[in-house]
Amino acid sequence: MTSFAPVGAAPSAQPPAEIDGFQLLINALKLNGIDTLFGLPGIPITDLTRKAQAQGMRVISFRHEQNAGNAAAAAGYLTQKPGICLTVSAPGFLNGLSALANATVNCFPMILISGSSEREIVDLQQGDYEEMDQLAVAKPLCKAAYRVLHAQDIGVGIARAIRAALSGRPGGVYLDLPAKLFGQTMDAAAGQASLIKVVDAAPRQLPAPEAVERALALLKNAKRPLILLGKGAAYAQADADIRALVETSGVPYLPMSMAKGLLPDNHVLSASAARSYVLAEADVVLLVGARLNWLLSHGKGKTWGAPQAKQFIQIDISPTEMDSNQPIAAPLVGDIGSCVAALLRGMGSNWPQPSAQWINAVAERRDKNQAKMAETLAQNPSPMNFHSALGAIREVIKANPSAILVNEGANTLDFTRSIVDMYEPRKRLDVGTWGVMGIGMGFAVAAAVVTNKPVIAIEGDSAFGFSGMEVETICRYHLPVCIVVFNNNGVYRGTDVNASGGADVAPTVFVKGARYDKMMEAFGGVGVLASTPAELSAAMHAAIANGLPTLINAVIDETAGTESGRITMLNPQTAKKINSGN
Ligand code: ADP
Repeated sequence: MTSFAPVGAAPSAQPPAEIDGFQLLINALKLNGIDTLFGLPGIPITDLTRKAQAQGMRVISFRHEQNAGNAAAAAGYLTQKPGICLTVSAPGFLNGLSALANATVNCFPMILISGSSEREIVDLQQGDYEEMDQLAVAKPLCKAAYRVLHAQDIGVGIARAIRAALSGRPGGVYLDLPAKLFGQTMDAAAGQASLIKVVDAAPRQLPAPEAVERALALLKNAKRPLILLGKGAAYAQADADIRALVETSGVPYLPMSMAKGLLPDNHVLSASAARSYVLAEADVVLLVGARLNWLLSHGKGKTWGAPQAKQFIQIDISPTEMDSNQPIAAPLVGDIGSCVAALLRGMGSNWPQPSAQWINAVAERRDKNQAKMAETLAQNPSPMNFHSALGAIREVIKANPSAILVNEGANTLDFTRSIVDMYEPRKRLDVGTWGVMGIGMGFAVAAAVVTNKPVIAIEGDSAFGFSGMEVETICRYHLPVCIVVFNNNGVYRGTDVNASGGADVAPTVFVKGARYDKMMEAFGGVGVLASTPAELSAAMHAAIANGLPTLINAVIDETAGTESGRITMLNPQTAKKINSGN
């Protein structure tokens, strides 16, 4: 039987479908290919984490926002998609902010999304729950900062944040979302239509042809050329062309620490083991995604030899990076992929190779230093020291070149960087431009989550303390992370004494014989106490084979190591002595 509606009756009275702020945000992120959130739930974002997970996003919850923020930054660096960190308001936001600032300094794309109090209360300073003018606080510490007040602007807010994080020089972006926004509703179809799928978020920037010619002319006339690869080169994912640039030009190269592995460290043109020699002697230096900042002694001083004998070519996406420390004779502004490709085209197949005299001089220094290092690594002192422990780790990495190495500390950082060779691009994550402690567990979690590769974190005992509680996170998500804590009982060393003779230990000393391995066991992971290189090596191989969260407490000589590692000269007391010649 057919039924007819009475003439003039309203069509079936379905209320128009509505969509809320939570859902718009999730849809906007998904629309832009963002499938993972790093964060720490709490008011007002708890439901956002639940709903995102329910809709298939990976939500990784941390124990402290700084670690979630560091994870987002590392994810951004590894994937060229902005890593997202979600935090609660004021205190949670502030905890995440240090990671956002660090990401910006390192040129890693990330977006810190924090819930916040309502504008009308914040602006009249009426004392809301966790009240803070977060946008104003974040602005000077990141690349861009936005606030969204209305549900219909969520699409624009996410699009602007993604573009700001990825385009030009990548960096950190803050997105402020007041609590009320999440519950706002609007017509579902209009809401969906308001979302933006960002097209070409990191547009290529082609170098000017005359800039390419200028650079090639300088390189061609060089007597002692050098290529310096920085973490911008690693980020750019132009791996094959960068390798071709080195090999076609025949120019020795030096990788900055996170550029290690762009070409394998045992490449015949690697000048890592002749670093001091090549920096002082080179007459033309081609910088690829590396800034002439403190990590390169600002391009001057004893490290760089006679200044008038040095000319720089610099490839960077940021035009204002040029001349920031030294005059740049041939600036090549553009994205690294396009610039390197243009240089390769200009070189053709008959590019004149550097003189045998230069190549042999570099090789001679390198071989001599490598032989010296091999001798040191062959020793097996008891107790174990940095060198003997790292001699073992070096072999583990050689056998597992696709594992990701996270590294922080003072001596632990310096020795690992110079002793452990890397073989593949973007496999080394470390303290970066600020030389910051505390990135360890955040970076390790992100590396495991976004790459599914085994992760090895080589940590000084002091550095580990900044993010150590995240061993629970590592166990909770069953991540294949093997942490090695170099335990020498303190910051730098464990041997300092309290000069006052009082009962407190010296400021740099920790509990002696601390059992960091028990921390991992507390959460169901594997804890190992290792006091010889053989024990360390066996435990690492086991961790990589079984993929279980593992913490190896590597007990090393507490007298090993130097104050501040290789940056002793930055300590005011030491600097004073150096300056006064004492
Ligand atoms: P390192 O610490 O390894 O020397 P830096 O962080 O100092 O490296 O330098 C990285 C540089 O790379 C920054 O100046 C940044 O602007 C630049 N950069 C990052 N990504 C790109 C890219 N895709 N194309 C060109 N330059 C880039």
